[in-house]
Amino acid sequence: MQEFDAAQKEDKKLNTSDQLMRLSQETVCVHAGVVPEFVSGAIMTPIFQTSTYVQDSPGNPKLYDYARAGNPTRDALEGSLSALEGAKFGLSYSSGLAATQAIVQLLEPGAHVLVSEDVYGGTGRLFRLLFARYGITFEFIDMRDLAAVAASVRNNTKLLWLESPTNPLLRIVDIAGLSAIASRRGALTVVDNTFASPIFQQPLAMGADLVMHSSTKYIGGHSDLIGGAVMTNSTEVAEKLKFIQFAAGSVNSPFECFLLLRSIKTLAIRMKKHHENGMSIAAALKDFDDLTEVIYPGLPSHPQFELARRQMKGFSGIISIRLKGGMDRVRKFLTSLKIFALAESLGGVESLANHPETMTHVSVPPDLRVKLGISPDLVRLSVGIEDANDLLQDIRQALEGSRQA
Ligand SMILES: *Cc1c(COP(=O)(O)O)cnc(C)c1O
Repeated sequence: MQEFDAAQKEDKKLNTSDQLMRLSQETVCVHAGVVPEFVSGAIMTPIFQTSTYVQDSPGNPKLYDYARAGNPTRDALEGSLSALEGAKFGLSYSSGLAATQAIVQLLEPGAHVLVSEDVYGGTGRLFRLLFARYGITFEFIDMRDLAAVAASVRNNTKLLWLESPTNPLLRIVDIAGLSAIASRRGALTVVDNTFASPIFQQPLAMGADLVMHSSTKYIGGHSDLIGGAVMTNSTEVAEKLKFIQFAAGSVNSPFECFLLLRSIKTLAIRMKKHHENGMSIAAALKDFDDLTEVIYPGLPSHPQFELARRQMKGFSGIISIRLKGGMDRVRKFLTSLKIFALAESLGGVESLANHPETMTHVSVPPDLRVKLGISPDLVRLSVGIEDANDLLQDIRQALEGSRQA
């Protein structure tokens, strides 16, 4: 695989990390990882839909031997993913949770992991219900409090698992501060960067050791695939992850790799539009009497606005709101929306609305849900790239329609 990369990159212009470092992200998105296919010159990386590769003599494959171990379409994608986070290494997985799983498989039984208490629901479920059975201890804490985090680090703490902004309450944690605490104690810091996307937040530059994405969301961006990614600058971690990927087998198909490569070309411009729509819709919603709260990290009213501004270049398209009135009102509102579709997931070009309490966050333990504020009145909007006024008008009509109920 390395050999193939080298052969492809030999006389190409934009694929060494030195060259990419000097380019803006719009350019990186379009070019990174992708070089014309070396037999035909096809400008787009073909879908190498094959499970195996013919060998000239026993044990002497040309460049690849078996597609779980390596595939040219996946290699191109992994090169592109690493460039997005300014990382030396990138790995692509069959889902965000498969990526998370691979990271936990770096650990030995007996390890202690500190986790943001409002981590993505599926991450919490994987830790609590699956990996806790393998002798790994997960402690869920509020990572906004750096002193509390420092005090919770134990001698066997191997990982700090954080997310920023979080889902669905859009809390921000201090990535540089937490990474410093972890590295002083010899623990690795992982940042789930799904909500910010690599365009708006680059955790490796702030001291994190690993970045994880559900590429199902903004990176994929079209609600048509499930995927995950991990990026790191550590050769040691990358080699272990490469082995886990090969040994455990959670890779995505060549077709999905192709779709992701295609998606990444527009990631920077999509994020720009998500941000613009997010900013203008969040600001407008602040004036709606039917809402008791509008949560968006780009609003000065967000309790961590300053921190968000410091570590993010933009604020994406996720806005959480609280509605006046009970669950009946919320149900009426959600079913009255015409442009926003009522669905789980986020980060696609089309706008979605989600009710965390009954949809995405059902697996969060009920007492934690209450503590976090994931209550019946909370609605999470994923603002797409449609026209902001059309989206606002849709929210307005659904609020008015539900008021009469
Ligand atoms: C969706 C999501 C995941 C899980 O990713 P899948 O692709 O659904 O497996 C992890 N973290 C965050 C923040 C997510 O939104």
